[in-house]
Amino acid sequence: MSEQPGRPDDAAREQDGVGGPDAFGRLWTPHRMAYIKGEGKPVGDDDCPFCRVPRLPDAEGLVVARGEAVFCVLNLYPYNSGHLLVVPYRHVADYPELTVAECAQLASMTQQAMRVIRWVAGAHGFNIGMNQGTVAGAGIAGHLHQHVVPRWGGDTNFMPVVGNTKVLPELLAETRVLLADAWTASARSDPPAQ
Ligand SMILES: [Zn+2]
Repeated sequence: MSEQPGRPDDAAREQDGVGGPDAFGRLWTPHRMAYIKGEGKPVGDDDCPFCRVPRLPDAEGLVVARGEAVFCVLNLYPYNSGHLLVVPYRHVADYPELTVAECAQLASMTQQAMRVIRWVAGAHGFNIGMNQGTVAGAGIAGHLHQHVVPRWGGDTNFMPVVGNTKVLPELLAETRVLLADAWTASARSDPPAQ
């Protein structure tokens, strides 16, 4: 490093390579590359994250709530902060294969997920739904899961369109604690006011 003026920590940030500094900031998202390349995707039923997650402690598996037939977990690759997945414990790919009880609990837990997210984060709207099959966009097609994506006015910007990047203002572990605490509180009393 020469004796040119600069902030004291500039030297530490310098790295040999092609190109030079410019006016643009960089948001590095290597976790997206892992997703794009398919790393961590199950290769068979034994390697299914939705079968594995319920066996982990809540904090480690990002589990928000557990029912008898269905559980609720944070999406590791969220479209938005608070993006939840409602998932049957049973490894089932096709929605018509669910039992009546599983269907009912999937529906009621989806309702409760909406209530809790509204209560905690004041969501203005939601995208709810399932991608059935890889061609329909299911990332983990072998084990069905219902997306609950909270939406706020103005929550989309140029980043997903231009940069294929989502900007998420809250870490997953913090989101999980907020939602899990609110879920527990709502179960103890009347449903939270909306
Ligand atoms: Zn599974």
